[in-house]
Amino acid sequence: MPLSAGPRAVTARLMLPMIPGAGRVDDAAVLFVGRRILAAGPRRQVLRGFAGPVEDLGDAVLVPGLINAHSHLELSGLGGRSPRGAGFPAWAVWLSGQDLSPPSADVLAAAVRQMAATGTAGAIDVGSRAGPAVVAALAAEGLSGLVCHEWFGFRRFPAGDPPPVLPPALEAAVRPAAGVRAAPSGHALYSTSPENLLRAREACRGLGAPFCLHLAETAGEVELLATGTGELAALLLGRLLPRGYRPPGRSPVAEALSLGLLGPDTLAVHAVWLSGADRRILADTGTVVCLCPRSNRHIGVGTADAPALLAAGVPLCLGTDSLASNDDLDLWNEVRALLADHPDFPGQALLPALTATPARLLGRDRELGLLAPGAVGGYAVVPPDLAGRLA
Ligand SMILES: [Zn+2]
Repeated sequence: MPLSAGPRAVTARLMLPMIPGAGRVDDAAVLFVGRRILAAGPRRQVLRGFAGPVEDLGDAVLVPGLINAHSHLELSGLGGRSPRGAGFPAWAVWLSGQDLSPPSADVLAAAVRQMAATGTAGAIDVGSRAGPAVVAALAAEGLSGLVCHEWFGFRRFPAGDPPPVLPPALEAAVRPAAGVRAAPSGHALYSTSPENLLRAREACRGLGAPFCLHLAETAGEVELLATGTGELAALLLGRLLPRGYRPPGRSPVAEALSLGLLGPDTLAVHAVWLSGADRRILADTGTVVCLCPRSNRHIGVGTADAPALLAAGVPLCLGTDSLASNDDLDLWNEVRALLADHPDFPGQALLPALTATPARLLGRDRELGLLAPGAVGGYAVVPPDLAGRLA
């Protein structure tokens, strides 16, 4: 959507405002400046007395600007080169051999522009090397976001002198007024010590931010935590995992529960390898799951059982993951992949996953993920091939 200075309006056949209790609006209009919504509702009502430019989008379906609940913008320079379908160990070995220095501002700007051009208005982005540049790239394009500084590794820190949970440069770079904030996150149970994960999680609570964690992405992760063996163990034991590592002997979800890492303010990313008991734990704790269907397919880790998660009552989000494991950052393509994997998945459950659920997770459900006066996420247009499934 244009980021021009003056108020503009669009009209369309249908609008789904994603406001609790509010239904769909036929013959709708949205009045906005940049991504700030001034009014949204029935066309005749919204446009009464408005003399500015109006664009008629015809048969379009308008929804709130989308939120990409899992990206790694700092990996945007690695697009098109990673192995496909070779499994997680091969992908991780490939990644560790790449130049992981922060991408140029141009590369980051192009990645964020791609998000914006495909209807994304906010992102929960995870990284450890380029936080300040990611904040700047998001803010420059007018996207809201949470830039997560990822804790990784089993390093112990002096009890009385732990390092700050956020790098000072990232803390100095955040732009709360522009809607871009920062928080720590944890990488995964197999890569980061319980102490470091808990410290990051507690810091998130203090900041009022969600705690993000890759969880149950691969069968190897399940096997490593259960028995200390398998393909991920072969890759990590003696390297990342400390000498004398003892597996907890339970599933990733059960281990995350026992460590106190789950809850409605936790975003568990991937959740591919779950038992029924795991799904019940996620539902009972209110833990939000971010599905990344195309990344899972690209790396070759399996397919998350989205219908079973939905049926269990687990709140869902969608994320693209990074260009190191995906072809683009277009969330609509994530929807297409999920529906291809699960043709019977109820499409109406996907719009909340793209809007209201991640907005609530961010604690910003009055300004993101809805089309209402005061919202700052703009609007998105449902692609015609998806309109019948989602609306
Ligand atoms: Zn990730």
